[in-house]
Amino acid sequence: MAGRRYNCSCGKKRYRDEESALAAAAGDARTYDENVTVYRCPGGLAWHLTAHGFVPEALRSAGRRVAYALLSRESLDWTSIDTRDVRAAHRIVALGLASGRPPGPLRATDRAGLTRVVQIGLDAYAQPRPGHS
Ligand SMILES: [Zn+2]
Repeated sequence: MAGRRYNCSCGKKRYRDEESALAAAAGDARTYDENVTVYRCPGGLAWHLTAHGFVPEALRSAGRRVAYALLSRESLDWTSIDTRDVRAAHRIVALGLASGRPPGPLRATDRAGLTRVVQIGLDAYAQPRPGHS
């Protein structure tokens, strides 16, 4: 992932890793009584917080869009998937997060995994995470 950096142009506060983002989210939740979610910046390596669920800017990658659609609708018609997102949909099936082949419906089978994809992106999800086995 050459070229990805911690500096991004989201204009949101940046956290260097998930742990610090989660710590900040826990602090915010106590202060504002809000359900704060952390996610990895789609345009960089930083982490951000959102109190409003996932905003469209956070779903700029195909994998995140498909995962988000599956989580919100449970099943998707392949023909309803944007052509630029179809490859990501096949990857999601290959990773065991959903099942179904065209033209039949695509169904979520691993909601926790899909939630993680929305949070960190499909590329990061598909990568082995050293120390997090
Ligand atoms: Zn960002």
